[in-house]
Amino acid sequence: MPYSIPFIKPVFPDPSVVAADFADIVASNWYTNFGPKERLFSAALGRYIGEGYHAVTFANATLALMALIQGTLGRGDGSRHVIVPSFTFAAGPASIEWAGYRPYFVDVDMDTLQPSLDDARRALENPQLDVAGVLVCNTFGIGNPAIAHWESLAAQHSVPLLVDSAAGFASRYANGAAVGTAGTAEVFSFHATKPFAVGEGGAVLTRDAALATRLSEFQNFGFSSGLGSVELGLNAKLQEVNAAIGLRQLELIDAAVADRQTVLATYREAFVEAPIRFPTNIESSSVCFASVLLPTHSARDAALAALLAAGVEARAYYSPAVHLQPHFASAPRSGDLPATGAVVDTVLSLPVHQGMPEESTSLIVRTLLESIDAA
Ligand SMILES: *Cc1c(COP(=O)(O)O)cnc(C)c1O
Repeated sequence: MPYSIPFIKPVFPDPSVVAADFADIVASNWYTNFGPKERLFSAALGRYIGEGYHAVTFANATLALMALIQGTLGRGDGSRHVIVPSFTFAAGPASIEWAGYRPYFVDVDMDTLQPSLDDARRALENPQLDVAGVLVCNTFGIGNPAIAHWESLAAQHSVPLLVDSAAGFASRYANGAAVGTAGTAEVFSFHATKPFAVGEGGAVLTRDAALATRLSEFQNFGFSSGLGSVELGLNAKLQEVNAAIGLRQLELIDAAVADRQTVLATYREAFVEAPIRFPTNIESSSVCFASVLLPTHSARDAALAALLAAGVEARAYYSPAVHLQPHFASAPRSGDLPATGAVVDTVLSLPVHQGMPEESTSLIVRTLLESIDAA
């Protein structure tokens, strides 16, 4: 049954605008390989994030993560570890393996839904564990309130801090800095499910010009000027049509995010007296959806069932945790990750659409509050 309120509903530029862009592309006879639209898009992304930032576009964020891990740590031989939360999307841990490292799973912080800094510190201080780097995740695109502590922890141990901010383009950290400015580099996705929706696409943002060059080479078969392949590379380039859509979306992103934050504010106000918790700093995020924590596993399951029955496609997201997915079941971890289990059991993600009508938000609010009252 199609839901009357889908989980994700991207807004794209008017098709006539994209048709005109495509006519430009055909006229220039340049479809991919760092063409004029891609050059404009990557420059505009860098300017959007801030002075001195380089943006390297990719065909998607998973390839961007692989490139970034190999580009900062070198290609691994499968023996060293990269710290990553289990409460994330599987693309992060998978990209660690593709780059030749082992994911080392850490727990989550119950208040923020961000990775546990204490677990990461213990892993870095453990002389038995060879940690090459840290892939922290801005959960649901929300700027981690402790990001400065992650930066100092990584610096103290002389390992790169890489940030998976896939859903977080146009989010802000608690101190007002743009998500995209932290660590050695941050990664964004422009997948159709993210607030900045192109279809497929991604980017790495960094201040390190040499790293940016290396990432551009990686995504072009590892080719470096006149030498051919200088390292193991891939084809991970963003084609012109996607860059053109990205340029159009970039003009609209601030208004889109402001609108999504209004929907979030409606939920927050409606739930102010209910036993429903929002993750810290969600209000400064691009609000890919509104994840909340309910008091118990049974309350969450009942609320999810009630919403689905009312035609609302809510989700228990991210579930299952990555360390419990079959491929990752034998990967090392810091204990049995109890907070991750508790979050996965009680999290509920509510749809947030740009321009969401009042009937939709009030149906969602009413259904959720009734389900909690009945419990
Ligand atoms: C969406 C997402 C990705 C993957 O992005 P793609 O562009 O689809 O490859 C990676 N990490 C996180 C946390 C995500 O939410």
